[in-house]
Amino acid sequence: MREALNQGLIDFLKASPTPFHATASLAQRLEAAGYTRLDERDTWAIVPGERYYLTRNDSSIIAWRMGRHSPLIGGIRLVGAHTDSPCLRVKPQPELQRQGFWQLGVEVYGGALLAPWFDRDLSLAGRVTYRRDGKVESQLVDFRAPIAIIPNLAIHLNRDANLGWEINKQTELPPILAQVAGDERPDFRALLTDQLAREHDLNADVVLDYELSFYDTQPAALIGLHGDFIAGARLDNLLSCYAGLQALLRADGEETCLLICTDHEEVGSSSACGADGPMLEQTLQRLLPDGDDYVRTIQRSLLVSADNAHGVHPNYPEKHDGNHGPKLNAGPVIKVNSNQRYATNSESAGFFRHLCMAEEVPVQSFVVRSDMACGSTIGPITASHLGVRTVDIGLPTFAMHSIRELAGSHDLAHLVKVLEAFYASRDLP
Ligand SMILES: [Zn+2]
Repeated sequence: MREALNQGLIDFLKASPTPFHATASLAQRLEAAGYTRLDERDTWAIVPGERYYLTRNDSSIIAWRMGRHSPLIGGIRLVGAHTDSPCLRVKPQPELQRQGFWQLGVEVYGGALLAPWFDRDLSLAGRVTYRRDGKVESQLVDFRAPIAIIPNLAIHLNRDANLGWEINKQTELPPILAQVAGDERPDFRALLTDQLAREHDLNADVVLDYELSFYDTQPAALIGLHGDFIAGARLDNLLSCYAGLQALLRADGEETCLLICTDHEEVGSSSACGADGPMLEQTLQRLLPDGDDYVRTIQRSLLVSADNAHGVHPNYPEKHDGNHGPKLNAGPVIKVNSNQRYATNSESAGFFRHLCMAEEVPVQSFVVRSDMACGSTIGPITASHLGVRTVDIGLPTFAMHSIRELAGSHDLAHLVKVLEAFYASRDLP
């Protein structure tokens, strides 16, 4: 099971260079497993025991199996994660011509670790909105090939490079696409029109707008002398999206189970399709009874908010509290912060720990050093919107927000096993 899951994750990461593609990848796997797509603009007829999913903005997705038991009695088992990752986004009028090179202006999305973006073979993917026969339509595109690069400056021209220097986001990041002749006028929208024709066999009259980001073409891989690690882009947080999906597809049981993967977590989740928006609440309002019974159902439910944790790095052990240094390949991490940067409480953490013990899955704890600031997740945001009990957990990783992150190759199977047990559990506390 471990090898199949790891290979499945590697394939999923390759198919998911952007939140749009991640949502499409999840949808494709749900469809293949018999889930029915619902449109939020239609009326719904929900049948107990049936399986559904919906997407919003093509970049967030909710999938669920309606229990045969009423959720009013058993509650809902929710797993949450996010589809987005820090990256470089192409600006609306991106064409730059400098020193005979065609470059694209980029905006930094989220808290990217920027140095690893240099000297990588980059491609471009995302959503393009265009006009065809008087209608406005959108399609996902993925150039797949390495069409761009951000070369480093030679150390001879920056002797202090190894002492660290501030990367200017405006001037130092525009990737180079090509060399151009003097009178040539690069046209990015024309390039996208060609890509739409190549990838989707359609003739757009004009490209209107787009949300495109660069990504590393090097695929994720098992690495290490004994294959102990998985290296790849976007492990934060497609690793958790994939684990949640696999758990949902494997779990049986009679209760209502739901997976939500939302966009915009890396920029605070405030959007129509983000965790700080109404997407989950509006969906639950359509699935559950009104009034008292709605609140009663939520109060019987529990959310496992899954997002990666910081493993203790052998070169920087002082960055962790001495008693709370999660190790790679030692199981999921329960994340605690008494200032509510994580929504974990003793009841939700205790239940998660109980599930791990019952499944013989190792489990670890994380609390940030008392003299350092703590990150956050969709956990506290969703808990404050819905009033649902929540536990924040995640797999330990290194190099979070780098263009190539690192996880343990034994941990995905641990996480899928415990999330599957959560979905199948008959009794929540
Ligand atoms: Zn994350």
